[in-house]
Amino acid sequence: MIRHHPDENLLLEYASGSLARGPSLVVAAHVQMCADCRSQLSTLNNLGGSLLNGSPAQPLQANAFERLMERIGQIPEKILHKSEDTPTPVPVGGEPAMDHLPKVLNKLLASNPNRRWKTLTRNLQMCRLKSGQRDYEVAFHCLRSGSGLPKHDHRGQEFALVLHGSFSDHNGIYGRGDFVLREPGQVHRPIATQDMDCLCFSAVAAPVSLTGIRGLFLNPLIPFRPG
Ligand SMILES: [Zn+2]
Repeated sequence: MIRHHPDENLLLEYASGSLARGPSLVVAAHVQMCADCRSQLSTLNNLGGSLLNGSPAQPLQANAFERLMERIGQIPEKILHKSEDTPTPVPVGGEPAMDHLPKVLNKLLASNPNRRWKTLTRNLQMCRLKSGQRDYEVAFHCLRSGSGLPKHDHRGQEFALVLHGSFSDHNGIYGRGDFVLREPGQVHRPIATQDMDCLCFSAVAAPVSLTGIRGLFLNPLIPFRPG
């Protein structure tokens, strides 16, 4: 069961095309896995599309969603599409089996035939992907079951989606299909659950920053390559 979703304002930014390419990929992948967000997005597209298309581009205000919904009035029930919520097997080591991914990620993989998985730590592998933009680093991360990442904070927004397995931090537990947004300054220590490796897809606007004495030595070495 998916428990964490993009909020309404983020969905509206995505629907209106004002969200940057990196975060859009994460939101699109979540929407393809999540019937609730597909329904909400369908409502926005069908009823709010003409309003948005006719308006000049401008930054969204915090209550943009509520104001739009007031204008468009009654929301009809939408037919939900077939769920793509099928587990993706992830073997230990090597490249995870990329079956049953959201279509938008299959397309991204197809456009990155020479991708490489890098071992960042004993328990963490990363595969960076070219996505045709400059502001976000777009990548898969695979965290070995039962292992954790060092405590770190975020210097820019991080948009992430759990594709297989699950992880937890002090905010809760995140499983397959869950959407995670971390804002700059938020500190956490994700730990993969014991039963299986955790595969995530993410777009980050700045490199993470390790806290404490480790950060003094290791932060300058953390790679960050948007593209
Ligand atoms: Zn959702």
